[in-house]
Amino acid sequence: MSDRKKFVVMYCAKCNFRLVRKNLYMQNGTVGPGNNKTETCPNGYVPLWPVSWEQEAREGYKLLDSCYQRLENIKQEKQSLAEMHDALIKEYSDLKTKKEDMKEIIETLKNADNESASSPYWLILDPKRNMRCNIHELAGQITGPFFCREDAEDFLERTRYNFSSRAKTYCLSGNYSKKYDNLCRELRK
Ligand SMILES: [Zn+2]
Repeated sequence: MSDRKKFVVMYCAKCNFRLVRKNLYMQNGTVGPGNNKTETCPNGYVPLWPVSWEQEAREGYKLLDSCYQRLENIKQEKQSLAEMHDALIKEYSDLKTKKEDMKEIIETLKNADNESASSPYWLILDPKRNMRCNIHELAGQITGPFFCREDAEDFLERTRYNFSSRAKTYCLSGNYSKKYDNLCRELRK
């Protein structure tokens, strides 16, 4: 016997109240359908009617439909949560990279020989012959800043082909920049 046949469902057309009728047969312990006689709805003076197969099928489809829609919504929510998660992970790792870069600059400055400047920075200067009074040409002869002499010289060595034989690392003072000067003083305390 299928489960469907083990009970009768009664419903109220007014308030949608449902009553499942089952009979338990004490002699053999089996369950059988209850009767489908009408009775009054506990919520009001209207009769309960047995639910027809068609009605049950229609409601079943409706329920299936709404379950499907909910599943779709959950899938979409899951997708956008996953996207949010990925974006956060990326943002975190970007921040971590920036923080590590800043830390490296600070460590470099802290440990650099300041070469008697209170707030030093280093440039590679590459004076060219026949220099005209042109700001682009001037800028083209300056590379930096670096935060210690070793970094500048490493760079010069690695990219030697970009420079003339006259290129040289030069230490300058950044004490005209109040912020930079304060940072350097703070680091050297
Ligand atoms: Zn009712």
